[in-house]
Amino acid sequence: MNPLSESTRVNDVHSALNETPVSLIVRPRDTDEAAACVREHGGRGIAVCGARHAMGGQQFLRDSVLIDTRAMKAVRGCDAERGLLRIGAGAVWTDVVRACREMDGLGPHPWAIRQKQTGADELTLGGSIACNAHGRGLLMGPIVEDVESLRLVTPDGEAVECSRAENAPLFALVVGGYGLFGLVTEVTLRLVPRRPMRRLVDIIDIDDAVRAVERRIADGCVYGDFQYAIDPADAGFLRRGVFACYRPDDGATVTSGESDLTRDQWIGLLRLAHTDKRAAFEKYSAHYLASHGRVYWSDDLQLSTYIPSYSEFLTHDSAAAHARESLVITELYVPPDRLGEFLAAARGVLRESGVEDIYGTIRSIRRDDTTFLPWASRDWACIIFNLRTPHTDAGINRSRGTARALIDAAAGFGGSFFLTYHRWAAREQLLRCYPRLPEFLAKKTEVDPRGVFRSDWYEHLRSILE
Ligand SMILES: Cc1cc2nc3c(=O)[nH]c(=O)nc-3n(C[C@H](O)[C@H](O)[C@H](O)COP(=O)(O)OP(=O)(O)OC[C@H]3O[C@@H](n4cnc5c(N)ncnc54)[C@H](O)[C@@H]3O)c2cc1C
Repeated sequence: MNPLSESTRVNDVHSALNETPVSLIVRPRDTDEAAACVREHGGRGIAVCGARHAMGGQQFLRDSVLIDTRAMKAVRGCDAERGLLRIGAGAVWTDVVRACREMDGLGPHPWAIRQKQTGADELTLGGSIACNAHGRGLLMGPIVEDVESLRLVTPDGEAVECSRAENAPLFALVVGGYGLFGLVTEVTLRLVPRRPMRRLVDIIDIDDAVRAVERRIADGCVYGDFQYAIDPADAGFLRRGVFACYRPDDGATVTSGESDLTRDQWIGLLRLAHTDKRAAFEKYSAHYLASHGRVYWSDDLQLSTYIPSYSEFLTHDSAAAHARESLVITELYVPPDRLGEFLAAARGVLRESGVEDIYGTIRSIRRDDTTFLPWASRDWACIIFNLRTPHTDAGINRSRGTARALIDAAAGFGGSFFLTYHRWAAREQLLRCYPRLPEFLAKKTEVDPRGVFRSDWYEHLRSILE
């Protein structure tokens, strides 16, 4: 087992708003070590973390034991005929992509991941499964669709296999279960053939967005998203955007390796998004329009440049060298035919609160019928905001109020929100958007009566719901 760290403080990487004292960090390297940890420390309460990007305290439990899963990342096997990869749940996406390349030549064709989160690559498979993450697929449900099976260490410290055929009720709780039903140690991931994809870029108005998505889908596009204009003073605010889609083009030669902006380009854009939002959008649009027609591998195009800590960038940047701050993401869902109305409401919310949205995208997501607490409870249009949040009481309160107003707006159109990004939703909002939450908490008690796996997020949910 890797060295233990005692009595230290941990925090989430992106918002840095969840500093938490923990009494011990343990880093198991495989299922046996993880099971031994759970048996040894279960009585003290255990939180499980991957790469620490969730922002609501889902991965930490105050003054308790933290199992850091990132040493469990070895490849455990593959089936190159069927496109299945067995790998440790602590693997991050770059590990998974590398493991796919190691399968090249073993099967009928190269294999690739089907989807991953956008915006960051160093997120673990376990963390992705725990929130049931999604990528930018135009016709895809969340990542549960890509999970064949997983190995779970239960609250009793037993290792069990879970899939749609084996321990199916537990599988449905674990995916999207935020680490509360056990520790995932290995995952068998369903891969797809690796294909060249041609990027197609349009600048469009939101009124045309739903039809544009339909057109691109009819055209055979598999991936796509819409990056909208962020200047509240501009008529195009939350209206005009860059619609980038990807269509398989099997005969084409891949023309570009990395599809994303470089680190320097990202920092430049980020800086502009703080100082001149209109210019930031124009620059971003120009970059994307210039890449229209380029061909990328289907996995490469999903990799992103990530500045590990925006807060660090902001505090070190001379233009923003004032109070500490970070970007808190908030993600809303509405039925696709209510998108225009929701965005009109969101414009009002942001203009009134004055909270800056540093960048944002709109994506499409298909319904998830597998998990117990599905956030994709139907087909959604998914709208993401990155709220600039000073780390002061006033700054945090303003962002919280804005996030709540956006949730109210989405819920008013029959929509919902993603639980992973903060714990700012009010009780009524949680119950309205996740009516199965009380049942989910009851299942938690049934599966884990001693409360072995807990987090500050879980304690928060219990305190406001029970
Ligand atoms: C910049 C950025 C971009 C993002 N983009 C997207 C996106 O495009 N789509 C999307 O869906 N999400 C996105 N997210 C959210 C992200 O997918 C989730 O927060 C994810 O859970 C983070 O994974 P992690 O490895 O950092 O996990 P952590 O933050 O460490 O943990 C998150 C949760 O997973 C649980 N967990 C972790 N590992 C295990 C395990 N092995 N077994 C059981 N439970 C475990 C933890 O207990 C916790 O509840 C983004 C987040 C950021 C910061």
